[in-house]
Amino acid sequence: MSSQVVVVGASNMDLTSYVPSLPKPGETLHGHCFKKGFGGKGANQCVMAAKLGASTAMVTKVGKDVFGKETKDNYERYGINTEHVLEDDAEFTGVAPIAVDDAGQNSIIIVNGANDKLSEADIGRVEDLIAHAKVVITQYEIRPETTLAALRLANKHGVFSIFNLAPAKAEIASELFTLPDIFCVNETEAAMVTGVDVQTVQDAEAAARALQDKHNAKCIIITLGPQGTYVLPKPGDGDPFHMPATKVTAVDTSGAGDAFIGALGYFLATDPSLPLRTAVAKAGAIATVSVQQQGTQSSYPDASVLASLHT
Ligand code: ADP
Repeated sequence: MSSQVVVVGASNMDLTSYVPSLPKPGETLHGHCFKKGFGGKGANQCVMAAKLGASTAMVTKVGKDVFGKETKDNYERYGINTEHVLEDDAEFTGVAPIAVDDAGQNSIIIVNGANDKLSEADIGRVEDLIAHAKVVITQYEIRPETTLAALRLANKHGVFSIFNLAPAKAEIASELFTLPDIFCVNETEAAMVTGVDVQTVQDAEAAARALQDKHNAKCIIITLGPQGTYVLPKPGDGDPFHMPATKVTAVDTSGAGDAFIGALGYFLATDPSLPLRTAVAKAGAIATVSVQQQGTQSSYPDASVLASLHT
């Protein structure tokens, strides 16, 4: 059975403690509250596409432990194909212990665990799944060779691909720029990879041009939080544009970029005739809905939101 959107990426269990202040070295302190949540950029993006109604498959690796089982159950709850949620015998499921203080500042530790065991050979075994997808999405939370293997296979089969360079690294393999149909980053990631300090739409334009001119990337999308998105299409595919975001009161922006990418994957996969501008506008509107709710995956709207998008 084929899936419209195939996501190759990380699954993490977010373990968030709410504390009066962030602990100093050697300090033990008591928190007021604890929350467990499903995370990983790949996981979030897949859940977003699934919630909107795409048929989806997640290619990821978890440990043979309770978090791994819960992660798989979570994907199943959203109707995601979990045939390729692989289990590693020796590693634990990826975790992200997070502390949030009373002022809303956070400190985050990510321990990749089984995510680092997702290999090129594992990707080779899902060639058929990738070949029959409409859109393949991948990020940089797994091993670079694994990300590259997914992009190469998408390219080989002419499947549209989105690469989210997150978390960003200054030096990456040149194919990570040239293979994906869309190269998507936020302001911080764009700055890291180009050296351009991205604060304004004009800065985003300069960074996107640098990515295209220096690295031969195709379409570049830079997300700009409340300023929306800047899009530089592939040369010859139309004019660049800035898509502003609707002004709202944001209560929790965590996972907004993942909501944007997952929604973009949904729109491009389910209606390949949709102009890029419309798909970006709709995906931006979905991400803006998500920032008005607490949580990450739980803040993502489902398909009932689609009728109310006036873009
Ligand atoms: P990331 O989570 O990767 O840092 P961004 O913060 O750039 O990503 O957000 C992605 C998208 O989410 C934006 O392009 C925008 O559409 C929407 N968004 C994020 N923050 C806000 C906000 N404060 N108000 C309205 N929309 C927002």
